[in-house]
Amino acid sequence: MKLLQGKIALVTGASKGIGRAIALQYAAQGANVAFTYLSSIEKGLALVAELEAFGVKAIGYRSDASDYKAAEQLVENVLADFGTIDILVNNAGITKDGLLMRMSEEQWDTVIQVNLKSVFNLTKAALKTFMKNKAGSIINITSVVGISGNAGQANYSASKAGVIGFTKSVALEIGSRNIRSNAIAPGFIETEMTAELNPEVVKGWTDNIPLKRAGKADDVANAAVFLGSDLSTYISGQVLQVDGGMLT
Ligand code: NAP
Repeated sequence: MKLLQGKIALVTGASKGIGRAIALQYAAQGANVAFTYLSSIEKGLALVAELEAFGVKAIGYRSDASDYKAAEQLVENVLADFGTIDILVNNAGITKDGLLMRMSEEQWDTVIQVNLKSVFNLTKAALKTFMKNKAGSIINITSVVGISGNAGQANYSASKAGVIGFTKSVALEIGSRNIRSNAIAPGFIETEMTAELNPEVVKGWTDNIPLKRAGKADDVANAAVFLGSDLSTYISGQVLQVDGGMLT
């Protein structure tokens, strides 16, 4: 039996990187997958066929996770197309790095909107369905820098720390309805988001990771399968670090 057989998952930001890996592993584990993309239209459209190849239902929606009304509309569309939602993965995220001295208001606002407000938007929109079902697994993708902070990422770290506070609060509020809320905190994962980094900097980081390598998107997706599945039915309010031991 596959771990997510017959479950319906909504994954935000699945055109690339970690979200894409989660969508693919979910489909491989038998989940029907609704996913979103925003600017990578071709990649988003191409993912549908890749997911369908696993014999599941898959639909991609072009939707801006940072837009409250768009998130409401998205959930309405997913419910009309799939009937319900069992797992929500809030993965969409961006960086706009810079030292605080040089960080613009726009850099701050955009990162908070996309990384933190999106989690509120989608969780709020899906909540009624989870309450009705008396079941649901919410998985928010935060980051180890939401725990540790990071020079040059005050906006990003703050957004990811906010995601952790939100995740734990939701777990406390709606645990009695059998709705679980957890976060995954990836460390340094090789994706397009990190491909822009200076190779010297990357080497410095990987040398300091106990497992001596950068993570792969699939390493994070494995954790998302676990938290979405019935293997984790007594786990809520937790932050699972997927970082090769980087932050201990
Ligand atoms: P990525 O390769 O840049 O992919 C980001 C995804 O988010 C893309 O599919 C993008 O879609 C989507 N997205 C961005 N803004 C969006 C919006 N407003 N609405 C909907 N979708 C949006 O990044 P990644 O490395 O896979 O990161 C995924 C998540 O993991 C993020 O939350 C990130 O903060 C977190 N994370 C990553 C690392 C790492 O080392 N890579 C470490 C810790 C945490 P389009 O391209 O279609 O716009």
